[in-house]
Amino acid sequence: MDLYEHQARDLFEAGGVPVLRGVVARTPAEARAAAEALGGGTVVVKAQVKTGGRGKAGGVKLAHSPAEAADRAADILGLDIKGHRVRAVMVAEGADIAEEYYFSLLLDRANRRYLALCSRSGGMDIEALAAEHPDQLIRHPIDPRVGLDAAAAAAIVAETGFAPEDRAEIARVLTLLGTVYADADATLVEVNPLVKTTDGRIIALDGKVSLDENAGFRHPEWAALRDVSTENPLEVRARARGLNYVKLDGQIGIIGNGAGLVMSTLDVVAYAGEDLPGTPRPANFLDIGGGASSRVMADGLDIILSDPQVSVVLVNVFGGITACSEVAKGIREALKQLGNRATKPIVVRLDGNAVAVGLAILEEYDHPLVRLEKTMDGAARAVAELASAAMGGN
Ligand code: GDP
Ligand code: MN
Repeated sequence: MDLYEHQARDLFEAGGVPVLRGVVARTPAEARAAAEALGGGTVVVKAQVKTGGRGKAGGVKLAHSPAEAADRAADILGLDIKGHRVRAVMVAEGADIAEEYYFSLLLDRANRRYLALCSRSGGMDIEALAAEHPDQLIRHPIDPRVGLDAAAAAAIVAETGFAPEDRAEIARVLTLLGTVYADADATLVEVNPLVKTTDGRIIALDGKVSLDENAGFRHPEWAALRDVSTENPLEVRARARGLNYVKLDGQIGIIGNGAGLVMSTLDVVAYAGEDLPGTPRPANFLDIGGGASSRVMADGLDIILSDPQVSVVLVNVFGGITACSEVAKGIREALKQLGNRATKPIVVRLDGNAVAVGLAILEEYDHPLVRLEKTMDGAARAVAELASAAMGGN
């Protein structure tokens, strides 16, 4: 989960990282009040969207009075920045910037460690800096068992070549950012720019933080950070029901049990559709997990059928702990609830635990939209052909 800048700012502040005061505003009037609350002097009005490069896109503007802050907020609210609509701005205290630096700490999966990146040339697009002046961006590996401690911070500031008189304070701030990273279970903490002000203070002026969803179980406070308006509504619904659902961009809905089976089903379906007209592809990934009840199966089918992009569904279950009878009951339940709103064919391949009972339930129910297939390959071909036909391919 990515945070908004104002949420990152709050996280930094709680961790003792020097930041400037900031207030979120959703209307020009709120922006004026925020600027007044900040003392009525110079402020920066910043678009709150989960993407970078806001400055270049006109989403970061200085204002020298509360009235001007309202005008700048009116300019920025409603802007589209790289496909993200601006619904809020942060009105922040203005800084007198002497120098802009770059710092980030991220999870380096390939090397099973963290990586700190630091540069004296901050404020600009870091990808461009890495490409054009790789020598100006230092990369310092961090042992995750130790974290970014004072020794690592001292090494980073020396390698980066900060002026000797600034090194102690910058190292102190980097250590605090390292603690924020670890305590928040982040996969990324990026500060661009980290600035030195004209009066010599080091301040995190921008913040980008990504949290590791796998650690969500120990962070009940994350619920308040989530902004479901920026998430796929079907993914939100699936998460609320404890289902593992990922939206893809094809036409064939896929439900299976266990990530391994679901992933190989995606491959087999994509392969079956490869040479057909329209090249139909999987529309999503839904894992009902092990030991799923008929309720879970019905919820899963309901979510898949709610995706307007889906023209046909494949249920591929190999029952180990999951009983095929529960899967069959779930399909029946979902279809009964949907009634005549159910219009999409459902191809079902069941095998393993309680398969005979499961098949008997579906054969007896004999729903015109349900088609039973014996093998995974046969089922994949069937859904690919149905999806291709629905695309007008035949
Ligand atoms: P981004 O473009 O999305 O990364 O947004 P930033 O928050 O990094 O802001 C972009 C640029 O605006 C910074 O690099 C600064 O040059 C400038 N900026 C941001 N806040 C201030 C401020 O308080 N005072 C001044 N003078 N410039 C600022
Ligand atoms: Mn920035």
